Amino acid sequence: MILRADWVLPVARDPIEEGEVVVHNGVIVDVRRRSGTRGGADVLDFGEAIILPGLVNTHAHLELTALRGAIEDLPFFEWIRRLVELKKLLSEGEWRDSTLWGALEAAASGITTIADTTDTGASLYAMVQVGLRGRVYQEVFAVEPDADASRTLRALEDRLQWLRRSTQGTPVEIGVAPHTLYTVRPHIMQTLRQYTREKGYPVCIHAAESQDEIALLERGEGKFAQMYDGRGIPWQAQGKHPVDLLHEGGWLDERTLLVHCVHTSPHHTELFASSRTAIAHCPQSNAKLYNGIAPLSDWLAQGVRVGLGTDSVVSNNSLDMFAEMRSAVTLQRAVHGESSCLTTRRVVELATLGGAQALGMAERTGTLEPGKQADLCVLSLAGWHHFPTYDPYAALVFSARAGDVLMTMVGGKTIYQHGEFPLLRESVSALRERLRHTVRRVRQALSDDGSG
Ligand SMILES: [Zn+2]
Repeated sequence: MILRADWVLPVARDPIEEGEVVVHNGVIVDVRRRSGTRGGADVLDFGEAIILPGLVNTHAHLELTALRGAIEDLPFFEWIRRLVELKKLLSEGEWRDSTLWGALEAAASGITTIADTTDTGASLYAMVQVGLRGRVYQEVFAVEPDADASRTLRALEDRLQWLRRSTQGTPVEIGVAPHTLYTVRPHIMQTLRQYTREKGYPVCIHAAESQDEIALLERGEGKFAQMYDGRGIPWQAQGKHPVDLLHEGGWLDERTLLVHCVHTSPHHTELFASSRTAIAHCPQSNAKLYNGIAPLSDWLAQGVRVGLGTDSVVSNNSLDMFAEMRSAVTLQRAVHGESSCLTTRRVVELATLGGAQALGMAERTGTLEPGKQADLCVLSLAGWHHFPTYDPYAALVFSARAGDVLMTMVGGKTIYQHGEFPLLRESVSALRERLRHTVRRVRQALSDDGSG
């Protein structure tokens, strides 16, 4: 199969004008200037478009899709409290529908690989059904002071066993996500570290996202401290920044993905670089939830492994990685001026190869190179907002939107093309109808609460 377009962006090397990608048995065999091969059944010519590596979203919570836009204009603490309440409303079937809608949105947005953090486990079913590659991190919460380590571990093992069975033969891997240092007790963290290391599970942890988190862990103060106090849950401040605690606990290594790290210092950057710890950078979520702007320029200057993440659509509100790239660049330039090292090319690398490296999947995906899996997307340049196009990198970062994506392919299989999802076994309109029901219930709960 040959895919052609005005531009091919291998990311591993310079853009190719009038290029083509040759795919055989799901693998890329050549990336080159347009050849003499005539159009036919096996030649797909997209014309005014860019073929680029599939986007790698290093942090999402697909299961929360049904709550998109339900919690707005609230600071982080109030936002997360409301989220915990709304999560209680959804049934198992609704979690599946919610997650499936998110996976469809991802595929239609040019995303081929997702690192998804899941409480319910539903994202696995959705990613497999839609044909996405990625990793599902099973979340662990253990906030009660008397939380039992062996009971927590047994519950986690049961869940992981089920996930492992369901991922056999799919491009989805399994990992473990201790939620945060303020929702998992230190003694449970210790047990989880031992367990994940022994079993070789990759790990994902939210860290240093908000000032309230740091106030609790460093000084036992702030909104989280007040909440635990009010609920009669004792919390002993550990007197240290979350990243320093993670370092001491042996969590910083190349199998660990930290999410956010907004409030971190140059000393933490050194720790990330020397330990090869990866970071999922979510600029839109951080800005929207009033948490600030992470030191991305510093991380990149020091060679830290970084990928981009959309976070959930409750904090974003879409899985549009083009918007995420744009925000990453513009926020760093706004804050650091000319000392920001973020170019359009660099941020496209972050959204593709950087994400693949952060997840340890760069041998398979992240660039268009012979020998890699055919994970790619095709972005139309036909819209008003794309004409004229001088530079494909600038077009992707400053003009493109998820809705411009024409086609998405994972391992040579088309998972999205022109509004259709070839691998999907159920009806999108029936799914939408079921989700409408869920939304009505959530709205009702919000208005009963006096806040809708
Ligand atoms: Zn998150």
